[in-house]
Amino acid sequence: METTLNIPQYKMNEEQEKKAILRKYRALLHALKPKLKPGDKEQVRAAFEVAAEAHKNMRRKSGEPYILHPIAVATICVEEIGLGVTSCICALLHDTVEDTDITLEFLQREFGAEVTKIVDGLTKIANVLDSNISQQAENFRKILLTLTDDPRVILIKLADRLHNMRTLESMRREKQLKISSETVYVYAPLAHRMGLYNIKTELEDLAMKYLEPDSYRYIAQKLDNTKRERARYINDFIRPLKEKITNAHFVDFEIYGRPKSIHSIWHKMKKKGVSFEEVYDLFAIRIILNSPPDREKEDCWKVYSMVTDEYTPSPERLRDWLSNPKSNGYEALHTTVMGPQGKWVEVQIRTKRMNDIAEKGLAAHWKYKEETTEESRFDKWIRQIRDMLENPETNSVDFLQDFKTSFLAEDIYVYTPKGDIKMLPVGSSALDFAFSIHTKIGESCIGAKVNHKLVPISHKLRSGDQVEIITSSKQKPKAEWLKFVVTSKAKSKIKDSLKEEKRTIGEEGKLLLTKRLEQMHIPATQVQFEEIAGYFKINSTLDLFYEIAIKRIDLNEVKQWSYSGDKIVFPKPEKVSPEEKSNSNKILAKKDTELIIFGESSDKIKYSLANCCKPIPGDDVFGFITQGEGLKIHRTNCPNAARLLANYGHRVVKTKWVKNKEISFLTGIKIIGLDDVGVINKITNLISGTLKINISALTIEAKDGLFEGNVKLYVHDRDELENLVKRLTDLPGIEKVERYDTENSI
Ligand code: MN
Repeated sequence: METTLNIPQYKMNEEQEKKAILRKYRALLHALKPKLKPGDKEQVRAAFEVAAEAHKNMRRKSGEPYILHPIAVATICVEEIGLGVTSCICALLHDTVEDTDITLEFLQREFGAEVTKIVDGLTKIANVLDSNISQQAENFRKILLTLTDDPRVILIKLADRLHNMRTLESMRREKQLKISSETVYVYAPLAHRMGLYNIKTELEDLAMKYLEPDSYRYIAQKLDNTKRERARYINDFIRPLKEKITNAHFVDFEIYGRPKSIHSIWHKMKKKGVSFEEVYDLFAIRIILNSPPDREKEDCWKVYSMVTDEYTPSPERLRDWLSNPKSNGYEALHTTVMGPQGKWVEVQIRTKRMNDIAEKGLAAHWKYKEETTEESRFDKWIRQIRDMLENPETNSVDFLQDFKTSFLAEDIYVYTPKGDIKMLPVGSSALDFAFSIHTKIGESCIGAKVNHKLVPISHKLRSGDQVEIITSSKQKPKAEWLKFVVTSKAKSKIKDSLKEEKRTIGEEGKLLLTKRLEQMHIPATQVQFEEIAGYFKINSTLDLFYEIAIKRIDLNEVKQWSYSGDKIVFPKPEKVSPEEKSNSNKILAKKDTELIIFGESSDKIKYSLANCCKPIPGDDVFGFITQGEGLKIHRTNCPNAARLLANYGHRVVKTKWVKNKEISFLTGIKIIGLDDVGVINKITNLISGTLKINISALTIEAKDGLFEGNVKLYVHDRDELENLVKRLTDLPGIEKVERYDTENSI
């Protein structure tokens, strides 16, 4: 999709610009006012002046004076995250060391050690994110290192990212894609984990606007159209509750309806395969009480009972995060009740303090922390991250994945047989639980009893389960265990143990190799071992010895080697296998004129279409340079896109389709409708008769008066497919027609 961007150019004169900058700065000061202590204002002013002077000749892509960006980031820090004076100063200065002549020494002199350290942390992150070569995963590790140093770094970084997302419009399309992917992949989960719900939601919505522009616009439009109707419904729903709560002498409370985010509605539509109209919880009702600390729980439950007196609750949908707060600190009571017109409505009950934590996350957590002595879940979380960072993994992509599953996922609570509570990430297995108790227990785990029933070690645990681990002294960790553990502790312990075993077995391989080399009068030292590992394309000598020991490498080959000039002489590599040959032919055989690949002069680039999303001309696509399979074309809404773009941004190439009516592409659609005698005829007549589209395969299944048809067909481009979908939907008796998203669903 190539559109000309319509950005209002800033036609202000210098005087007007100055005024605008000062206005924004004053608004920032105003927001900060309640937190200012004597002397603070001067420091903030000094930071503003240093930043304004340093950035004075710089402009953003939109044409705005650059200084408006640090002011905006500082304002987000203060207003939306609830940070204080130091963070505000750091936010104002956050791009100075990175982009201007300002040095850390200068900051140290002017603003002291604390500010300097935070700006330094922010600069390190910026450095990594700006380079194309290094991977996002590695960047992420750096981010985490600074997080455990001083969490304010990450909060300011999130504010920075939020402002950049809010102003992403003026960036080039591929930049928008990369930044948006990174945002959904890393920053939104991080904001969520920090307890910054509003920021997480806004980041997701903004990213979706660029990654899924059509769906975004569609849902935004629908929400807009139903706004008045929804407001009326919310009022009807709230009225009796307001009365009840007031009558119970709660004087200070708020009750209102809050729309769900576009992203979460879309997510639900996809997950449940339903239309916008079928998503029942387009909004949630929120009740916020102002209760003293010792009455919080009691009051929340009191209001809960008033809500459920008025409306019938759904028994499975009560979430009690009062007794067991989420690990990011979130506390509230959620319930779903049957409202007027038989609609399900989610009601969230919490106190002002809880609401503060829900909105300001980590920052609010600190504010209230002084009141509690126990180590909070948040501190625990940070401590666990620190532990993980001290055991660095070599592969940073693995590291990011591990981190995401073990630290960014939601938590479940499970119990030991003695009733102690353990917190584990969602998706944890019995084996994860075993490792969380003790490494030895994990390593010797052969099964578990969950709620007194025997289950395999791969069994996925659910909140509330009581788990008893069964061990055996004969058990040893196995490679396949890695497939069903999600916690980083279990993963690294299993890997350690496998490595140890490999080393023991490898000893034998090393001995065999040494003997063979000596026979050929080739020295057998580490240098040669590494040369040989390189020849076999094996990563380490440890793996080499192991492969030899288990006979995956044939040592008879050594007979063909010789030694001269301090180097082993290997025979010439063998010809490409016939299988590989036919593979590359396949890629060549594909016509290559339907696609323009930017940044390359030749249009003779080999490419293939990704199987996971089966793009067709007209789809929004990008190219991805694979290892060994050339360029692969994916749809930007491919399920794998976010991961690829975020992890391997430097391997992404911009691509665009060129109309070509001669080549057709295989795609699939699913049709759901009422089962009636003529229906197959009608469908096939339309597809191959009227529209002259070739069908490759067709299956129909009927059940209880409904049928589901799966059609694989060849289309030329997206327009043709969309037209077909529309025509099919218009046929009598057809309920729903949709395109397959992934390989799996075919
Ligand atoms: Mn910035």
